[in-house]
Amino acid sequence: MNQSFDVLNRYLFDDLHVRGELVQLSESYQAIIANHNYSEGVRQLLGELLTATCLLTATLKIEGEITVQLQGDGPVGYAVINGDHQQKMRGIARVTENTDAKGLKALIGKGNMVITIRPKQGEPYQGIVALEKDTLAECVAHYFEVSEQIPTKIWLFHDGDSQKVAGSLVQLLPDGDDKEQQIKDFEHLCQLTNTIKAEEIFSLDAQTLLYRLYHQEKVRMFDPQLVTYQCSCSEEKCLSAISQVEASELTSILAEQGCVKMTCDYCLTDYSFDEKDLAPFLTNKKH
Ligand SMILES: [Zn+2]
Repeated sequence: MNQSFDVLNRYLFDDLHVRGELVQLSESYQAIIANHNYSEGVRQLLGELLTATCLLTATLKIEGEITVQLQGDGPVGYAVINGDHQQKMRGIARVTENTDAKGLKALIGKGNMVITIRPKQGEPYQGIVALEKDTLAECVAHYFEVSEQIPTKIWLFHDGDSQKVAGSLVQLLPDGDDKEQQIKDFEHLCQLTNTIKAEEIFSLDAQTLLYRLYHQEKVRMFDPQLVTYQCSCSEEKCLSAISQVEASELTSILAEQGCVKMTCDYCLTDYSFDEKDLAPFLTNKKH
């Protein structure tokens, strides 16, 4: 397989009851940051959040949507990545104060990470952890520790020059008998993974990289999964939001502006609806 970027690889260390993931992103990341005029620090933060969300999504056994949001009192009010089990991702950062700062603490400040999972079938659920650690990688590991009690470690990389991001995850599987040995194996694999260099993760394909890191282990790779940028906004969704607005308010916007305009926060697509489009909502059915 030639395509190494915009791909997520999952693998198992069969004998050790540990799983791993590697994700390397280029175009999907560039599409998310395009047209938004983010500073270098914000681009990096969104890239790391995108990478972490891909890794996290791939650990889920369900079909559905996931949203990972960072929110706090810093110059970036929030940063959010939204995706699904098919690794279709989109994201946005709300910058409330211009800044050249870099890093999670400097940009988000004091705050939380909110992870919302909406399975296709079943009830949505939400996990919240305080951003107590210095890096996003540590915060995500902390989330797994607190909410799932699963030892997990993740590594995140960002290359500002080529606008690429990448990351890796190592996670204990809850299926072994000898817990003590399992933890030792997990830590051993973490030590190996810790030797990844940025220039390797941004230049080597997954197989070469995994061989370099784990050639003494038995690694079973699953089929790679493509990661794509895709915004889920549509005229239909806009109209569904508009249907919640009072008819009298719509009528007065139409009288003033001739149409009702909406812009997608994520991809900045403009939508415009005239009186004909809005006809079904202009008679007040609520009373
Ligand atoms: Zn959109």
